[in-house]
Amino acid sequence: MSPIVRFAPSPTGRIHIGNARTALVNFLFARKQHGRFILRFDDTDVARSKEEYAAAIEFDLAWLGITPDLIVRQSQRFDFYRAAADKLRVDGRLYPAYETAEELERRRKRQQARGHPPIYDRAALALSEADRARLEAEGRRPHWRFKLDHKVVRWDDLVRGESHVDCASLSDPVLLREDGTYLYTLPSVVDDIDLCVTHVIRGEDHVTNTGVQIQLFEALGGAIPRFGHHNLLAAASGEGLSKRSGALSISALREEGLEPLAVAACAVLTGTSESVHPVHSLDELAGALDLSHISRAQARFDPAELRSLSARTLHQMEFEGVRERLAAIGISGPKAEAFWLAVRGNLSLFDEVVGWWHVVTGEIEPSLEDAEILAAARETLPEEPWDEATFAHWTASLKARTNRKGKALFHPLRVALTGREQGPELAALLPLIGRLKAEARLSGRAA
Ligand code: GLU
Repeated sequence: MSPIVRFAPSPTGRIHIGNARTALVNFLFARKQHGRFILRFDDTDVARSKEEYAAAIEFDLAWLGITPDLIVRQSQRFDFYRAAADKLRVDGRLYPAYETAEELERRRKRQQARGHPPIYDRAALALSEADRARLEAEGRRPHWRFKLDHKVVRWDDLVRGESHVDCASLSDPVLLREDGTYLYTLPSVVDDIDLCVTHVIRGEDHVTNTGVQIQLFEALGGAIPRFGHHNLLAAASGEGLSKRSGALSISALREEGLEPLAVAACAVLTGTSESVHPVHSLDELAGALDLSHISRAQARFDPAELRSLSARTLHQMEFEGVRERLAAIGISGPKAEAFWLAVRGNLSLFDEVVGWWHVVTGEIEPSLEDAEILAAARETLPEEPWDEATFAHWTASLKARTNRKGKALFHPLRVALTGREQGPELAALLPLIGRLKAEARLSGRAA
């Protein structure tokens, strides 16, 4: 059976590279096995969720190459959650509790002072009808807790192997707040059942939730998916990434000009036994991803490593992979492919192509560094047609004629032909620049 996975952000902010890791691991896992990827917006918190964040998340995912097979919004699925809550109530698994946050806090402190774990004592289960009526008459509204079975829940984690959570050591989780709004737990399980999710792959901050959720799957009679919990990406300082911190948001990385494939490779391969290496495509990255190779240790995200990876990704990128991006900035036509192959190895960021295209097709101010050698260069400049061998023939004759070699020969040529101190191989640039411009530039004329 091909897998069905989901990525379930709440649209309360932009996504960062750590969220992208979860999204990509799911997407690539499904892609490798011809499965389906669902984007689920966990927007039950209507006050904090914003449509503009949902749109931005979709945009960021698309930039990374992630196209969902289905998009669902929890805010449109309240009927399902209500029905599930009703079933749990009827089955005696969802019970009302009336304690205020302050009362619970006082109770926790007392338990801790006595050396007991701060677990909810289920006092609400002992309330009679009359007690409840009295509390409600006082104006209290209940929140609703899921009555856990006090047992150890086990699963074979796709990343961590044999895993377990002892539910006897947990408080019965609140599924519904006083105001009738849902916390994340119940809607997530209801949707996973309804959308036939086969694999729930998410960050290891959800391990305890998984113990609870497996009990909810059982209580609702749903098929229990496989679970996988990957390590979390942390900043180089070891500090966790936060949606609000912004610096490592996907939009910030895009605006910095980094390559989406490099961001993807870095997000997926950091903190695994694979080296963080450039890839040609998401399919190649899918091939390099093995959930059981994800490390148990924290994964440190190094921005310098990402920048270097982004450059190396460009250096090996085929023309087909950038044809459209080049065309969008006016780089097209018969020279485009040879141009790309000539300059890609010199790029740190894609946008630098603009400057090199100008060197090849635009008008530059040459600098004349060594009039003698340039005069000889002009005189020996071969006739067209030119190809990549032209430069070697030309400079061989120049060498013989001027007795110069190495930097003394090549540097003045480079500066005159390109106006720059460094750059791609002149052998590749020369035929792109063409004889007309080359001749003028060697004579010190703007061309
Ligand atoms: N909205 C939850 C989160 O962002 C989803 C967790 C899950 O994948 O179940 O943490």
